[in-house]
Amino acid sequence: AKQVGKNRYHFFDTEQDEAVSIQRESLDNIRSALERREFVLYYQPKVNMNAGEVIGVEALIRWQHPVRGLVPPLEFLPAIEGHAISLEIGEWVVDTALTQISQWRNMGIDLPVSVNISAYQLQQDNFSARLAELLVAHPDVEPRFLELEILETSALDDVQHISTIMSACMDLGVSFALDDFGTGYSSLTYLRRLPANLIKIDQSFVRDMLTDPDDLAIIEGVIALTKSFKRNVIAEGVETIEHGAALLELGCELAQGYGIAKPMPASDVPAWLNGWEADISWQA
Ligand code: C2E
Ligand code: MG
Ligand code: MG
Ligand code: MG
Repeated sequence: AKQVGKNRYHFFDTEQDEAVSIQRESLDNIRSALERREFVLYYQPKVNMNAGEVIGVEALIRWQHPVRGLVPPLEFLPAIEGHAISLEIGEWVVDTALTQISQWRNMGIDLPVSVNISAYQLQQDNFSARLAELLVAHPDVEPRFLELEILETSALDDVQHISTIMSACMDLGVSFALDDFGTGYSSLTYLRRLPANLIKIDQSFVRDMLTDPDDLAIIEGVIALTKSFKRNVIAEGVETIEHGAALLELGCELAQGYGIAKPMPASDVPAWLNGWEADISWQA
């Protein structure tokens, strides 16, 4: 029962049987969804507001459900975390992102893609070996076009172990970002000990930064820290020009959020890229 995951412990004993069957049902559903190819990656641009350049896109999974429509990841990923099926989906995500990188490349578009990696996935003993195999299967993709985003979470308990895995992956040529930075308990330990090139300021701090002095202070602190540690920093959840302009003023040039672009199907990306090139309104 332990591997069913943390959420399980919210249920009382009398409800446990029901909870187990709900869990079983969702695992089976998700397995068939993978077999029926119902998962799809959307891509959200990441830009340099100062240079007016697109620096890459983040791949975000959705479930194209025949009845429910487009189901967001937080409605199905938490239920499978820690199960074998989550590893299969994780590999599907990396494989699909690599395929996409090479498809864009064939169209003359050199676009780095970042993918989200769960703590469970990252901590598998064969993680870097599987990544190496996937890279070999896509010989036309330069590994530096792939970035792995990892969440700081209490599940990343063994920092030394994680750091070793990350170094093995970096030897393959891929890079790392620390996602949702500032929301976990161990941000400073992670920043110091994990070899991530990019720190992503969590969107919860960005959302209220214009009105909440505490959130603004956290953002200023994170930007200063990342500079001291010689890492790059990007703000997530940039919803308005005002947020973008304020972040630029604070020295954070990289941004991602609905104010720049919402996640979109791969087929919409080329046209979006053409439109963005003309748009340099951030410094207004
Ligand atoms: P994340 O990696 O922090 O991704 C950012 C999330 O914020 C995405 O939600 C994105 O659509 C949303 N977002 C982007 N800009 C804005 C904004 O300006 N305002 C607001 N309110 N939201 C914004 P999404 O796609 O629902 O994904 C949620 C989380 O699910 C992701 O958070 C990530 O942790 C996880 N996830 C998504 N795809 C995958 C995947 O392929 N594998 C794994 N393991 N996790 C994934
Ligand atoms: Mg992410
Ligand atoms: Mg994030
Ligand atoms: Mg998040």
